[in-house]
Amino acid sequence: MTTVEHGPAVPQQVAKATVPGFERPLTIFEHSVPDRRGVRPPPAAVPAAPSDALPASMRRKAPAALPEVGELDTQRHYTWLSEKNFSIANAFYPLGSCTMKYNPLVNERVCALPGLSALHPMQPDDQVQGMLELCWRVERVLLAVSGLHEVSLHPCAGAHGELTALMCMRACLDDRGQTHKKIILIPDSAHGTNPASCTIAGFETREVKSNQHGRVDMADLDKKIGDGHDIAGLMITNPSTLGLFETNIKAICEKIHAVGGLVYMDGANMNAILGRTRPGDFGADVMHFNLHKTFSQPHGGGGPGAGPIAVRDVLAPFLPTPKIARVSDGQGGWRFETVMSAPKSIGRTRGFMLNAGVMVRSYSYMRSNGPAGLKGIADNAVLNANYLRAKLKDTYKVWIDESCMHEFVATAKGMPNGIRALDVAKRLIDYGIHPPTVYFPLIVPEALMIEPTETESKQTLDTFVAVMKAIAAEAETDPDTLHTAPHTRSIGRPDEVRAVKEPKVTL
Ligand SMILES: *Cc1c(COP(=O)(O)O)cnc(C)c1O
Repeated sequence: MTTVEHGPAVPQQVAKATVPGFERPLTIFEHSVPDRRGVRPPPAAVPAAPSDALPASMRRKAPAALPEVGELDTQRHYTWLSEKNFSIANAFYPLGSCTMKYNPLVNERVCALPGLSALHPMQPDDQVQGMLELCWRVERVLLAVSGLHEVSLHPCAGAHGELTALMCMRACLDDRGQTHKKIILIPDSAHGTNPASCTIAGFETREVKSNQHGRVDMADLDKKIGDGHDIAGLMITNPSTLGLFETNIKAICEKIHAVGGLVYMDGANMNAILGRTRPGDFGADVMHFNLHKTFSQPHGGGGPGAGPIAVRDVLAPFLPTPKIARVSDGQGGWRFETVMSAPKSIGRTRGFMLNAGVMVRSYSYMRSNGPAGLKGIADNAVLNANYLRAKLKDTYKVWIDESCMHEFVATAKGMPNGIRALDVAKRLIDYGIHPPTVYFPLIVPEALMIEPTETESKQTLDTFVAVMKAIAAEAETDPDTLHTAPHTRSIGRPDEVRAVKEPKVTL
């Protein structure tokens, strides 16, 4: 077992030796034994439905093939499965751009309150006043930190927020009679979802180059705007995927506005600027938040999340419906209503109005931090990233070695013995640390994108520095160990391209 002084232990591996015929079942179904039971639910408190309540054609001919497993075996099975996984609850997870920070348990406590968790989305407004008010309050916090005028909580992911907002931009431009405005400018440091969302929303994209400081090249921006006739807007990730704040952001927004375009700011990285600066103040017309990043939420593996958008007044009429409205109850108090339609709205962009559990967790996080705490998030996210950058920059080349925001990008290019970013990433797994994002952003060769987040202690950061230095030393003295890492997991180096095309989701 590899150890670094004060380093984390490598996770214990599940025993591999088996006796033929007594192998551990891989799925819960293989644990099934006829008539075995985990729990006995109490008798139903309502009369059984009459046997003809469902037409014969819709009734089961045979019982459903459900696993019949005792509680202890069920518990062991899922605990064993969870040990195969890596999560923020196991160890440090510096996955750049993904903000894998701590998800406080109080959020889960609040979320599980029966008055919130037992609601049904079809309940009428007067039965869900508390939930509507909670969502309305989430909107107020997002308005306060964005400096914009109206929020929609509909989008269920960052990329869905991008698409929803771009659809609002299209509707706004069309409403102004500017159907010819089709081009969205996108800096080459943008997140990959940005150009994809533009294409799906029916826009065409035009790339703007970065300069040697990783910021938008202003001369190239002028060139790409041209006479501005066809420019619908600009979509900019700020802070960028290089972890840098766009210092010219105000001038960039002015140039886009001067030709009648709209500025979209990808706000997935708001944890770097929360309470320090507001996109509405520096010129953004619309942005999305990633509640599951900035406002803490278990994520990864596909959800659930939320990507609310905030817009300037000019875009507000186009936001999706239904919306939440606060109206006077006629007795000096307030009532909350869902407004089902609005004349210029782009309409529904999903089945139900929002991911309620995500709103509850984020609201719990917002309130438990308070305004000063939210500002502290930005301060610590930036401090932690700069601490790592300063400690590691003599060992790993930092791509743009300037003061960074919430993350920084190093490169493995030039490491000895043909060591690549992938080798460093895989070796980190042996030390019990999740790899950083690699090979992204695309403009950096052999990229290692490191985001420690604001919730990690100095001891954890120091451990990571020690491990990264140990790996750099191994690159000199023992490169084969890196080329063939990881050595401690049941799966080492899957064919990642094939894994996407032909996913095999069972063990
Ligand atoms: C995560 C992220 C997105 C996409 O968000 P999803 O919720 O994964 O769809 C977009 N832009 C940036 C900069 C991000 O970090």
